[in-house]
Amino acid sequence: MQPVADSLDNTPVTALKGVGPKSAERLERLGIHSVQDILFHLPLRYQDRTRVVPIGSVRLGDQAVVEGDIDAAEIRFGKRRSLLVHLSDGTGRLVLRFFHFSAAQKAALAKGVRLRCFGEVRNGPASYELVHPEYEAVGLGDAPPPEQSLTPIYPTTEGMHQLTWRDLTEKALGLLGKDPDALREWLPEPVRQRYRLPALGQALLQVHRPPPAMGAALMSDAGHPAQHRLAFEELLAHQLSLRVMRARARKVPAPPLVGDGELCARLRANLPFMLTAAQARVLGQIEQDLANDHPMLRLVQGDVGSGKTVVAALAALHAIEAGHQVALMAPTELLAEQHRLNFEAWLEPLGIEVGWLSGRHKGKTRAGILERLNRGELSIVVGTHALFQDDVAFAALGLVIVDEQHRFGVHQRLALREKGSGDAVPHQLIMTATPIPRTLAMTAYADLDLSVIDELPPGRTPVQTVVLADSRRDEVVAHVERACGEGRQAYWVCTLIEESEALQCQAAEDAATELAAALPTLRIGLVHGRLKAKQKEQVMAAFKAGELDLLIATTVIEVGVDVPNASLMIIENAERLGLAQLHQLRGRVGRGAVHSHCVLMYHPPLGKVAQQRLGVLRESNDGFVVAQKDLEIRGPGEVLGTRQTGEVQFRVADLLRDQAMVPKVQQLADELLAAHREVVGPLIRRWVGHNARYADV
Ligand code: ADP
Ligand code: MG
Repeated sequence: MQPVADSLDNTPVTALKGVGPKSAERLERLGIHSVQDILFHLPLRYQDRTRVVPIGSVRLGDQAVVEGDIDAAEIRFGKRRSLLVHLSDGTGRLVLRFFHFSAAQKAALAKGVRLRCFGEVRNGPASYELVHPEYEAVGLGDAPPPEQSLTPIYPTTEGMHQLTWRDLTEKALGLLGKDPDALREWLPEPVRQRYRLPALGQALLQVHRPPPAMGAALMSDAGHPAQHRLAFEELLAHQLSLRVMRARARKVPAPPLVGDGELCARLRANLPFMLTAAQARVLGQIEQDLANDHPMLRLVQGDVGSGKTVVAALAALHAIEAGHQVALMAPTELLAEQHRLNFEAWLEPLGIEVGWLSGRHKGKTRAGILERLNRGELSIVVGTHALFQDDVAFAALGLVIVDEQHRFGVHQRLALREKGSGDAVPHQLIMTATPIPRTLAMTAYADLDLSVIDELPPGRTPVQTVVLADSRRDEVVAHVERACGEGRQAYWVCTLIEESEALQCQAAEDAATELAAALPTLRIGLVHGRLKAKQKEQVMAAFKAGELDLLIATTVIEVGVDVPNASLMIIENAERLGLAQLHQLRGRVGRGAVHSHCVLMYHPPLGKVAQQRLGVLRESNDGFVVAQKDLEIRGPGEVLGTRQTGEVQFRVADLLRDQAMVPKVQQLADELLAAHREVVGPLIRRWVGHNARYADV
């Protein structure tokens, strides 16, 4: 079905009054080509300027309009010079804080003046504050009426003012109003009835220009039916785009990897343990995939310590037996080294040399490794991002294994596919210890097949977690001394987020100096990101060999490090880290049979949410429970670790609020792909964008 000529998805933005070629060009750069695109540029949030609220009723984080009289104004010379204006309205008081202000402004903000202000409520030293609020002086009774509808706040970029967006959307809504049929309804009528979806045009109008009565629902956690309508379509479009990508990724040829099973059998015989039932099941799934002549795209999830590495090694042997090469990639040097050591220990006795390529290999060494990969003399290489680089070429790459994929983007994952030989692309196995709640996984990773190692090897004892204020640091230090005195080993993790890596390393060095002074009898090591790889390796090896009692580290040890004798983990400033990250760190202990402990130290005062979060870790050792709670407390972006990379960002859908829609959307996606293929492309283009990679159907 081709879009009809006068539909809004075909109408250029220049059809709007006042939008000339220049504006069109700028919008083009934002991926906005048509009037439809403007209609689907949806508000991120709303401000409620429709009523004045009593100062006594404002809450932290509110965006509120308040009105009150100035009791006093003063200039404070603290860390930063600021003008503080004390405002009260009989129900409460708060402070307006200005860091930049003119003499005239200061003079106008005098005692007795009545102000109407709008701003975000923040915590101040003595009371709530509005920092740099919008404000105007008003007389008693003569204040202009507040705004009539909620104020939409649009996502925007540098140079595009909110007013511009409001103007553009206003005009686009005007066109829609003139001819509601100009916006194509792609969901078939029976589908709309089955899910009781309100009309699309009406939902758009409400979301862009919500009447005051809609405000509470719109801004609540539950959302408004208009948002649900749009979210449903958005999740559907997203699901369709991933299905399309997935189908396309599988359409290309891949080498079927079937060997005689001899190497795998030998490794399994050499292992000091039996695979768990879960490991065996997942390995079976992988082997089945590898035998296909189209590429495997499989995500293996397993909680920390569930034994993913050995599954990866067996998958690698499977490929090697079939005469192909394997690349294993890890996100950090430390983790890559750890894998290299494991793989060497397992594969070298079978006569397989393990290649090693990291960022620090330069010049001749690097050239030598590349040469051998290119000639097919190395059948497996372990490395970091260095493996992505253009000059890395393989003779017969059959399998790519990526550990902790959430650290890599979809793009990097796709880039690796280019490294196959001829037309064939390698199979891909992705491992992650970040448990992803099911609904989130179905949405974020719908292009991958999913395997879960949902069982820990036998004999593990759960880690006992305590949460302590850092005022009790001395007790913690004494505990470390006692534990190490009994032959146990401990980690001490220093955290600093949102600071430079240099500062993190400095913090770890300071802690090391201080702890060395406090614990003269212990053998102490230090690892952080700024040490030379060689030094890091030495320290880690010494810790692993039991030559060090206490290892002080930054969060570089978060993933992968495996020292079964370590049974005590101290994490400083735990409140600053995400739950998933804390769970990862904690997973460094509890790997042997001894009873392990984790101490989460925080710097008081601890806010309510932070208390709740640390409480989750105290109460559960199950990564999936932790992840689900993390999702509930902090939202999907944080859980997936994609906030920075900007993947999985929805315009209106909210994976927490809309969780229950996901299974319906999945089912509907199947249905549309089977029976209504003509709507798939248009829906994807509407919501996911014009990016050909997603939208070509
Ligand atoms: P993760 O899934 O966190 O990457 P690892 O692969 O590092 O876990 O495995 C953790 C530890 O458990 C390693 O010391 C590994 O040798 C061991 N291990 C793996 N599988 C089993 C098993 N089936 N039985 C006992 N120990 C196992
Ligand atoms: Mg691992």
